[in-house]
Amino acid sequence: MTYIVGLTGGIGSGKSTIANLFVELGIPIVDADIVAREVVEKGSPLLAQIAEHFGKSILTEEGELNRAELRKKMYLQMKMKKSWLNHLLHPAIRERMLVQLNTQTAPYTLFVVPLLIENKLTMLCDRILVVDVKPETQLARASSRDHNNIQQIQAIMNAQVSREERLKWADDIISNDAKLPENLPHLKQKVHRITPILF
Ligand code: ATP
Repeated sequence: MTYIVGLTGGIGSGKSTIANLFVELGIPIVDADIVAREVVEKGSPLLAQIAEHFGKSILTEEGELNRAELRKKMYLQMKMKKSWLNHLLHPAIRERMLVQLNTQTAPYTLFVVPLLIENKLTMLCDRILVVDVKPETQLARASSRDHNNIQQIQAIMNAQVSREERLKWADDIISNDAKLPENLPHLKQKVHRITPILF
């Protein structure tokens, strides 16, 4: 069994940025966002089910999932559709993540999951690393990255666990408030320093 270090943090905290620094060190990762895309890739049975449920308009001309269109439909039809989709996708994503974790040949794996605590995936982890930033930093970075307004980002933050709750789960914490690219050497140093502790 691979030793699993869960990496989590709120929206816009810098999980992907920091996960990439671990990848540069050769640490293998299982990434929930990547798995979530894989389960609905072109030609997959789940994508066919979604197209049947919501109509062909949620497919692009190339037969891929048109996420913007799906979001639009979900927004219009709200809760019922959302839970139908979550019931379809969550078990498939979970199962695929487990397969990827269980087939790791490396002695350790970084398991990158935005909703690690919310979805109780903490139980799969041997150790938990939290990327921590101030809420103002999350709002500023996520809104400029996604071209979303502050209210939309705030609504997502409200649906996630609070900063305090997340930190209660942390075995280790990386603070990511300092600004890149100036702070990149320092952030890399933090990742390098923490690596022998984690793995
Ligand atoms: P999400 O959960 O929303 O996918 P995330 O936690 O993976 O987000 P990133 O995508 O790594 O976060 O970072 C959010 C945005 O902030 C990105 O545009 C990234 O380039 C930028 N960013 C990350 N860390 C810093 C930093 N220290 N200074 C400035 N910008 C940063």
